[in-house]
Amino acid sequence: SLTIGVLALQGDVREHRAMLEQCGVQTIGVRRPAELAQVDGIVIPGGESTTIGKLARIFDLFEPLRQGLRDGLPAFGTCAGMIMLADAIEGGTADQETFGGIDMVVRRNGFGRQVDSFEATVRFNPSWATAFDSPATFIRAPYVEKVGGAAEVAATVTAPGGDRIVAVRQGRLLATSFHPEITGDTRIHELFVELVRS
Ligand code: GLN
Repeated sequence: SLTIGVLALQGDVREHRAMLEQCGVQTIGVRRPAELAQVDGIVIPGGESTTIGKLARIFDLFEPLRQGLRDGLPAFGTCAGMIMLADAIEGGTADQETFGGIDMVVRRNGFGRQVDSFEATVRFNPSWATAFDSPATFIRAPYVEKVGGAAEVAATVTAPGGDRIVAVRQGRLLATSFHPEITGDTRIHELFVELVRS
């Protein structure tokens, strides 16, 4: 059976594990390279991307995770986790590093500050699955400025500032601007589990 890790340095780890377990997979929290080596896929939760990057360095996970992603480890990043999977970011701190993996430019805090957090319905329209609408919570969320040739827009939302790309998939990498782990709707986690199985 599958084991999916949840990067457990910071952020809403417990919620992701609960959603994945509802999807019928085993989960472990990943804090060290030996744990990373055991997983069939990894979730990078929301939190603060600068902190996640720094803690990943401190816990000696940064390079193994970056390399794992290059070698095809499936990953699902939400919010700060989306930022960590981006090949390029805008609005980051000067020395901010990401793991990379998805050919996209992500704008940190693109929707504004904490007070601008909002809920909306996202239209999930991935070419590899049936389209559906999902409730989504955006908390100081990033959005995707653009995707490169290898990446595919998976969901958009109509936000106060216009339509924005809020989910992207590239091969077995998936990223969302929002937090599907807190909605009670397991469909997006199921999409990731299917990508891991594929
Ligand atoms: N604003 C955070 C960052 O830039 C992301 C917020 C979140 O994960 N809820 O890392």
